[in-house]
Amino acid sequence: MAQAASTSLPTEQLINELQSFGARLVDPKAGVESRRGGAGPSDHKALTIDGMTVMVPVHTAPAFESPYLIERPDADGRSRVLRDDVVLGAVSFPQRPRFYDLTTADGIPYSKIAVLHSRDVLATTVLQSCIRYQSRTKTCQFCAIGQSLAAGRTIERKTPAQLAEVARAAVDLDGVRHMVMTTGTPPGNDRGAAILAESAAAVKAAVDLPIQGQCEPPDDDAWFTRMREAGIDALGMHLEAVTPEVRARIMPGKAQVPVSRYFSAFAAAVAVFGRGQVSSYILAGLGDSAAAILQTCERLVAIGVYPFVVPFVPISGTPLESHPGPPPDFMHAILQPLAAMLRAGGLRAVDIKAGCGKCGACSALSTYERRLDA
Ligand code: SF4
Repeated sequence: MAQAASTSLPTEQLINELQSFGARLVDPKAGVESRRGGAGPSDHKALTIDGMTVMVPVHTAPAFESPYLIERPDADGRSRVLRDDVVLGAVSFPQRPRFYDLTTADGIPYSKIAVLHSRDVLATTVLQSCIRYQSRTKTCQFCAIGQSLAAGRTIERKTPAQLAEVARAAVDLDGVRHMVMTTGTPPGNDRGAAILAESAAAVKAAVDLPIQGQCEPPDDDAWFTRMREAGIDALGMHLEAVTPEVRARIMPGKAQVPVSRYFSAFAAAVAVFGRGQVSSYILAGLGDSAAAILQTCERLVAIGVYPFVVPFVPISGTPLESHPGPPPDFMHAILQPLAAMLRAGGLRAVDIKAGCGKCGACSALSTYERRLDA
């Protein structure tokens, strides 16, 4: 290994930097293969830093130019992180899960049914198509739900039986601890709640695994009870952006469901799932100011919803592929006060039963929380 000067950054700062700029990998094959396309965040690699596994962009346009370089793992599996020849820290790569080697009874590779996120989260997109994805005028500009399907890396509809089979194997073989079930929005008023409920029921019948469901607010709040009774432990309804102008620009279809409906749905869902078990993904860096994001977070925390604020990552092939991610100091300006706000409101990532807020790999938020706890 070449000699290099060394310094160390606080963990949360290193995570912010890596998530904002991405990283160049000397050995792109190290660790679990990265996910390309798909719903939600993508084009990342899972890395473990200081005991915390985080997702770092490696296949995005900014990542190819990133000042951060991650070296090939040494004999102990540790890789140095360098910037301008200065060593800033070390990371390791979670290993490829064993369930990826299996195939369902009907011949589908398990990795096309669900994938490993971070190091112990099983994630699936139950329905890999979306009414919002049909035309460029309606599509959420950041989303790549159709890309992995077009590339043959997944199948459109995962059946409850397939999900149950894969979930059981992921628990038995790889010690997966919770599951994220998201879905593209199907036609119809339930917005995906019905397929989430039937999928969760099948998984729960096969294995004791906490599940987070993620969907748009259904038209009828009765779906929250139905999802809960089916075995969904925590619920995500994702605002993505918080101000009406940014929502209309970035997600013209989804923005037709107004923020006011999200808030009435949050209140109804918290009554069913409990305080801190309902969350909302908010993408920082799409145009909302830090003040606007924090204001919305304050409203969310007040009603018991965990705001999971993550840095926007531009995914190749989407209309926003050239949109820059937020600078690290912008993330710091949000996540530091947000961690204090969460603490004052009695909400903690570790108390969430399942899902993105609990996993925390797409943001440094839970690292800020840990820092406050310490
Ligand atoms: S935070 Fe959510 S999207 Fe990100 S790695 Fe964890 S489970 Fe996946």
